[in-house]
Amino acid sequence: MLAELEALSDFRREIRAWCQDHVPVGWVARMTGASVEESLVFQREWLAELRQAGLAAPHWSSEWTGREYTLLEQVVIAEEMARAGAPRLGVYLISLFHTYGALVHAGTEEQRRRHLPAILDEGEIWCQGFSEPSAGSDLASLRTRAERRGDVYVVNGQKVWSTYAMHARHCLLLARTDPDAPKHRGISYFLLDLETPGVEIRPIRDLTSREEFCELFLTDVEIPVDCRIGEENQGWRIANSTLSTERSMILLMPAEQLRVAFQMLVELARSTPGPGGKPAIEDTGVRRDLVDLHAEIVNLRLLVNRMLSELLHTGGEGPESSIIKLYYSEILQRFTRYCAELGGMAAQELAPWLGAGPYVSGVWELDFLNSYTWTISAGTNEIQRNIISEQVLGMPREPR
Ligand SMILES: Cc1cc2nc3c(=O)[nH]c(=O)nc-3n(C[C@H](O)[C@H](O)[C@H](O)COP(=O)(O)OP(=O)(O)OC[C@H]3O[C@@H](n4cnc5c(N)ncnc54)[C@H](O)[C@@H]3O)c2cc1C
Repeated sequence: MLAELEALSDFRREIRAWCQDHVPVGWVARMTGASVEESLVFQREWLAELRQAGLAAPHWSSEWTGREYTLLEQVVIAEEMARAGAPRLGVYLISLFHTYGALVHAGTEEQRRRHLPAILDEGEIWCQGFSEPSAGSDLASLRTRAERRGDVYVVNGQKVWSTYAMHARHCLLLARTDPDAPKHRGISYFLLDLETPGVEIRPIRDLTSREEFCELFLTDVEIPVDCRIGEENQGWRIANSTLSTERSMILLMPAEQLRVAFQMLVELARSTPGPGGKPAIEDTGVRRDLVDLHAEIVNLRLLVNRMLSELLHTGGEGPESSIIKLYYSEILQRFTRYCAELGGMAAQELAPWLGAGPYVSGVWELDFLNSYTWTISAGTNEIQRNIISEQVLGMPREPR
């Protein structure tokens, strides 16, 4: 894999030069402590800048972006963006990955034309309405009901943890269309316009005091039949492809940012007094910890390379995506906890949030609290362990 990437040195130079010219100078200072509105405007402008260069969605087909990138070129782009400290398009994550994936996988040509250009050209934000108060890990037991009445489905129910729903125009919605079928077979997948009457969105404050995810209350919400993706009652299959997206290519840039962040840890160990007042980096125990963390970050990258190899040769990411999600989220947690502890009291201050920042921003206490995002969302780590034990190791299924 490495050799294949090395062969792309001209392309890498091109992307590196673009990053040098276009990653907004001083954006970290400007976005530290920025309001939600300022962060949204900033991300929209960054999306437009990337769009102009054909870099907003390197994994999309050229039909929509004007330029097609090979898988390896996508890797180079993610690596160079991470190295250049480029802003993260967090608010567009669902639009760029999940919505694209669902529409390409199961949408009609008309649905693709209706929605994909609006994402790239107008910065349309999407959210995901899968989880419910009694259906998270066991998502297939969801209860939100969609009843067909003529040309529309009438939807009633409640969703929860819908990230950025308060800023979104559309929602990828799962609802039950056949309550009598076995639970995985009675679910359909919808494209819901959040401005439809009957939709109520209530933000939830998280443990860092920010409001990123929301509850959605749906009361007699009418969704036109042509806003269903795929066949009626086939939503589970499409949802699974959406969920596996969350565990594979999305992690490319965060994994790379972790590699870049290791240098921040080294700097922290140089500038923080250790035992006896000497810089912490001179302490044997700290040096050993640094080596261990570095080895874990390198291992993560090797796992990512294995997934990429699998994608290159078979077109599917295989079970590595669950392993990578599990491993990334746990390293992220150990890494940010270590930095928050090593940095002492100064690192534990709740410093201002960095809008559009990476998951490892150097605001250690917030980074550590935020790291829980990754161990819970996209299927908790316990669920990933179940998947790995059953599908990779061939162990007996857990009793149901
Ligand atoms: C930051 C964040 C963003 C999110 N964004 C979205 C979003 O945009 N859209 C959306 O639809 N959802 C979103 N979610 C919801 C997320 O998908 C669910 O929280 C997750 O699937 C877990 O479901 P739950 O919270 O209902 O926990 P539960 O399923 O109730 O699980 C509770 C605990 O029990 C464990 N557990 C459950 N079942 C098993 C089992 N079979 N074996 C072993 N342990 C088990 C779990 O691991 C967990 O520790 C988000 C969550 C977070 C934290």
